[in-house]
Amino acid sequence: MSIGSPPEVALDAPLARAARFSRVRDRMRELEVDALLLSLGADLPWLTGYEAMALERLTMLVLPADDQATLVVPVLEAPRVAHDRRLFEMRPWSEHERAAEVVAALVGKRRRLAVSDRCWAAHLLELERSIPGAHWRSAREVVGPLRAVKDAQEVAALRAAGAAADAVAGALLGGEIALIGRSEAEVSAEISGRLRDSGHDRVNFSIVGSGPNSASPHHEPGRRRIGPGEVVVCDFGGSLRFAGGVGYCSDITRTLVTGEPEAEFAELYEVLHLAQGAAVAAAQVGTACEQVDGVGRELITAAGYGPAFIHRIGHGIGIEEHEDPYMVAGNTTPIVAGHAFSVEPGIYLEGRFGARIEDIVIATEDGPLACNRADHDLAVVEA
Ligand code: ZN
Ligand code: ZN
Ligand code: ZN
Repeated sequence: MSIGSPPEVALDAPLARAARFSRVRDRMRELEVDALLLSLGADLPWLTGYEAMALERLTMLVLPADDQATLVVPVLEAPRVAHDRRLFEMRPWSEHERAAEVVAALVGKRRRLAVSDRCWAAHLLELERSIPGAHWRSAREVVGPLRAVKDAQEVAALRAAGAAADAVAGALLGGEIALIGRSEAEVSAEISGRLRDSGHDRVNFSIVGSGPNSASPHHEPGRRRIGPGEVVVCDFGGSLRFAGGVGYCSDITRTLVTGEPEAEFAELYEVLHLAQGAAVAAAQVGTACEQVDGVGRELITAAGYGPAFIHRIGHGIGIEEHEDPYMVAGNTTPIVAGHAFSVEPGIYLEGRFGARIEDIVIATEDGPLACNRADHDLAVVEA
């Protein structure tokens, strides 16, 4: 299996950000939003390169549709901001001030506001008192569809993250990571360490579910020792910083067995493998997001495992592990070039075993581009 080196990432982050600001302002005018208020979450770093600290002191970018943007930031956190004067002003606030009042002054008479989904309720309640009569909506409505379409730089960042995760998956499938006799938690810790060694700045999760635990998609790795002849599902990812300091996520799942699997598992895995490949192939520009789920689900259902596929087939990925677009029944959004998302069908037989295969895919005009290339065949690792 070839892992390949991560692609070079261009260093024009400020240019890309300026383009994002203007697309956001266009969309605000379209949706009749007077000001966007961004706090915690991925929208702020996507626009400014700065990630707010999840603390009680408010950080908020006030971005009016018709005026210069201003980053309201606690004075003690201001030194962390790489201030790009072409994009926004800074308004550090000190301990004796009330941040909500500072934001209200910048908002002025504007009343149609969109606020970060992840802004703390405590902050929003205070803002509501300081800006009476405002009409509030979710910033996701404004920024979500824009952020879902990755530009060239983001595509390069996601490919670099995918290549780094593939290096760990390759080691796992190649038997370099011992399984038999170790606890799930020990294997999870080794995978986390290898994610860092392969270039990740942060590990987001490292799920290891063995034996009957493989049937629990979000299993918390524990003390259970992995035995011979068992199924092991490993789902892991982290984020990798690139030009401008913003991290982009990886997310991959591979399922392996620690010895010859029983006949029914081998059969189940074959169904899953076919469904995953078919769903990836269906991820063409112009196809509805829900179709990717539909194509995979149809094959799994036809084989009799429909009720055992208990989650959507995928989620968008970028600065966040899970973001728009979601590959789920009901999402009729057509796929466009630049959409990046997971394709991860799973089949789970409670109390027995389960399996999942996951790759990150980017839609392009030339068809789906897989960010993960680690082998999909069922790996037998007797180590
Ligand atoms: Zn995953
Ligand atoms: Zn995922
Ligand atoms: Zn395959």
